[in-house]
Amino acid sequence: FNEIETPDLSNLNPVQLLASTHKDGPAVVYAGAGSGKTKVICSRIAWLITHEHVPASAILAVTFTNKAAKEMKERVEQYIGAKRSKYVIVSTFHAFCARFLRIYAEEAGYNSAFSIYDDDDQKSLLKDILKKLNISDKILSVNTVKSKIDKIKNQGLTPEEYLHELKHNPELSFQEQRQQFRNFGEQYDPEIIQKIYSLYQSTLKKQNAMDFNDLLLVMFKTLENKPHVLESLQNRFRYFLIDEFQDTNPIQFKLIHLLSSKSQNLFIVGDDDQSIYSWRGAEPSFIINFHHLYKNAKVFKLEENYRSTKNIIQAATEIIKNNKKRADKTLFTNNEVGTKIKIKSCEDPYIESKFISNEIYADVQENGKFSDFCILYRTNAQSRSLEDELRRRMMPYIIYGSVRFYERAEIKILLAYIKLIINPTDEAAFQKIINTPRRGFGDKALSKLKELSTSRNESLLNTITEIVYGGLENEVSRSIAAVKDFVMCFQKWKSNLDYHNKPSVTLAEVISDINFEEYLRNSYPEDFDERWLNVIELKNAIIEFENINIEEEIGQQQKQLSGLEKLSRFLEQAMLTVEPTVVNVQQGTANAITLMTIHSAKGLEFPKVFIAGLEEGVLPHQNSIDSPEAIEEERRLMYVAVTRAKSKLTLTNCKRNRYKDFIPAQESRFISEISFEITDWVDSAKKTFPREFGKITSTPKFEDKPRIFKGDDLLNKENINLKSEMNQDLIWRKGQKVTHKVFGDGVIREIEKSTSG
Ligand code: ATP
Ligand code: MG
Repeated sequence: FNEIETPDLSNLNPVQLLASTHKDGPAVVYAGAGSGKTKVICSRIAWLITHEHVPASAILAVTFTNKAAKEMKERVEQYIGAKRSKYVIVSTFHAFCARFLRIYAEEAGYNSAFSIYDDDDQKSLLKDILKKLNISDKILSVNTVKSKIDKIKNQGLTPEEYLHELKHNPELSFQEQRQQFRNFGEQYDPEIIQKIYSLYQSTLKKQNAMDFNDLLLVMFKTLENKPHVLESLQNRFRYFLIDEFQDTNPIQFKLIHLLSSKSQNLFIVGDDDQSIYSWRGAEPSFIINFHHLYKNAKVFKLEENYRSTKNIIQAATEIIKNNKKRADKTLFTNNEVGTKIKIKSCEDPYIESKFISNEIYADVQENGKFSDFCILYRTNAQSRSLEDELRRRMMPYIIYGSVRFYERAEIKILLAYIKLIINPTDEAAFQKIINTPRRGFGDKALSKLKELSTSRNESLLNTITEIVYGGLENEVSRSIAAVKDFVMCFQKWKSNLDYHNKPSVTLAEVISDINFEEYLRNSYPEDFDERWLNVIELKNAIIEFENINIEEEIGQQQKQLSGLEKLSRFLEQAMLTVEPTVVNVQQGTANAITLMTIHSAKGLEFPKVFIAGLEEGVLPHQNSIDSPEAIEEERRLMYVAVTRAKSKLTLTNCKRNRYKDFIPAQESRFISEISFEITDWVDSAKKTFPREFGKITSTPKFEDKPRIFKGDDLLNKENINLKSEMNQDLIWRKGQKVTHKVFGDGVIREIEKSTSG
């Protein structure tokens, strides 16, 4: 028996120490960026386990992204070692709910093999439902309905409750009317939404599927309606720690409130200035009013920032103080003054990317660390020009959250096969693969099959199985011959999996039985290799998953999972994790530039940060320009971005070709909120704060404004496509028509030898 030593908390400041060693009852740590909130959560977990002898499995820590969860778990491990922290659950709300819904699926009214539907599945189901209800998408688009339903679910309301609210809460219908006004063009009546929502929900249930928001909603409803489930979770979990609390939405709050209501040990940390998810229903008022909701809550305020230089903190403070709706708080740092905030205005995105890569390159020549750098942007689309440039110069980078691994076409298809093996009533999966690879089962046959299955109240797979085996006569049967193999394969895969219990073998069977390699080769001749590598990667991931001994821990019991269960856990993880895409990296991810949206950078820190695209219409985003509230949220985004930087911050912008050409490109208002004294304008001519770059009157064409391409541009085949079929050998001539990725169509006017060769 090793004597348990307490973790070393000597490097905490007095308030951090008080918060970390807070024992029982509700508490809130309310503080600005970089003041050690996340650090406090980690040290408190360590302290509870070692000093207070709280069993690790009684602690639930929740954070916002899988990346943050992983980092938190690592920090706790550093304090007390992996062995003692093993059973602490550090997870996102969604992953936590998914995990326990598998265990309590029956109580929730589902089968434990339930599918998780992603946005695409959700939309295709809604499309079917709108059709069924005879609602034209001109009156109500799938996207509007989806976002409406997501919002209602974020509030934690079932279809019945929503209807009840509508009838009894006049304020809600007032909001509805405003909403209607905002979605100009589209009209809807809340009662129609309710009808769609209700049918959507019952259909999901029939298909044994949940969408992302259901994970929370169904979990909450199960806790509310099944006292023994609530009781068993309350008995297990006695300490709750929530990071980034400002971004919880009502359903998450209800859930955590209910779970913690018995022990009352709810410890939350957050910063209202960093609330950036109100579009997803987050309510920063929860954190501001926490001590009203929990009267005996201890309040801790941290004011010292340990992350950034004085200049960076000054810039962040100057920006955020322009927000009217915020609780006042102090943030200072004892760190050095540091370099000034570098600002550069560029001609176009191409030059902007070039500037950024040059800066990084020069720095790396001296310091050798690409991993010091992070490039942040408001929208995913902005990464394209940056990526082009980094690839061209062979600079290593990791990009987070653009396309999730599992969202790639080839992976999605294979996952759909797996989903259908696990859950035969998963209609979204069925529809995705019934004719992929092609089996001559077209849209017409599918819609007939759907009619038939609806009238028989059977799943698509069951219906088609019965047709194939001849028990059922119908008009689809001509196409049926083609899918006979498909149906038989499914039965084979499932019974084989029961026998060998190896998910990776099942995947290999699927790949070979459907001739997937040939399918990929024919469908994607240009990038077959890359896609095939992804398939191999998927196989590896499943093998890896198979080999770790998953101990499903319910109370003190541990349970060995079957092959099918393992496969379903694997899928769940794939659905809920955003895997980074690693590019140009030879040896691991250790030395690469990070590219990500500001939203996904929350909670993280980097020595040197670029914020690109600081223009009106980009940051602040175009959709927010007319709403003072939305502008405040954009400003909070800017605050989050600025406070990621430890020692160096560079802001860039350019004349971007936006969808509304008639809007002049203007510098972001957030730049001018920073004191001139702490800025360093790279181009001295710009020192006059240009609010307007000048009008972009039309898509810039080469004809309008000749551009001279220098050597490396010419070599960069990716950027320029020849207009004519001839001359594919990249020999340019005057008058030739070309298309450039950034500048569009044009004609070569002049050819000049580049000095750099
Ligand atoms: P954010 O609001 O961005 O989530 P945060 O409040 O969670 O920030 P942390 O990430 O916990 O802040 O800490 C910021 C940085 O400051 C980390 O590098 C952390 O190690 C460091 N830090 C925090 N407290 C101290 C301290 N008392 N002494 C030295 N360094 C500290
Ligand atoms: Mg944090």
